Amino acid sequence: AINMLGLAKRVKAKILQASTSEVYGDPKVHPQSEAYWGHVNPIGLRSCYDEGKRCAETLFFDYRRQHNLRIKVARIFNTYGPRMHPNDGRVVSNFIVQALKNEPITVYGDGKQTRSFCYADDLINGLIRLMDTPDEFTGPVNIGNPGEFTISELAEKVLVLTGSTSKIVFKPLPSDDPVQRCPDISLAREMLGWSPRVALDDGLAKTIEYFRTVAI
Ligand code: UDP
Repeated sequence: AINMLGLAKRVKAKILQASTSEVYGDPKVHPQSEAYWGHVNPIGLRSCYDEGKRCAETLFFDYRRQHNLRIKVARIFNTYGPRMHPNDGRVVSNFIVQALKNEPITVYGDGKQTRSFCYADDLINGLIRLMDTPDEFTGPVNIGNPGEFTISELAEKVLVLTGSTSKIVFKPLPSDDPVQRCPDISLAREMLGWSPRVALDDGLAKTIEYFRTVAI
């Protein structure tokens, strides 16, 4: 981030930080608005990512204050869609690949933790709108789909949409795995005139179609 900020300063470019809902950590406020400062373990397994992104946000705002750089900060919530890597390791791609191979679906923990999944096209649309806002608007702004689902619900949906015979198996929950996550997108609605268009079932169907066409 600091290298890119230095470059943006030199060439006088507008610069976007693809930040993340991880800056909210395991949130104690629900849904999460941009005003929430987060609840992050600074020395845990995930902290390298969480704190790295938080530090990057700090650097963006320092460059804005010190050099008047044109910055835009988007806090991206869980995103999925065609062309994810089959071994990406995230939950949507894992479940779809497992279902298509009729292998066990690996739910970590009890599956009651929630996530809000945004289809890639919706995200891109939000980012383009953010880049087109006036320079005074820096964000941070949440970009995500407020439809919130448990991981078990996601597993069931993938099973139904693929027609798979996979069984669900439960594996240990990774440490510091957030219990719930859902964006408050009021700011994006107001400032970007944006809200997601693709419902989870439709986006999953498109993503499943994609994974059927690639060798997995
Ligand atoms: N997860 C799961 N099985 C998997 C991969 C992930 O149950 O095969 C869970 C994971 O523990 C988390 C949720 O799904 O609660 C989302 O995980 P992911 O890595 O996709 O995103 P993040 O945790 O960064 O939101």
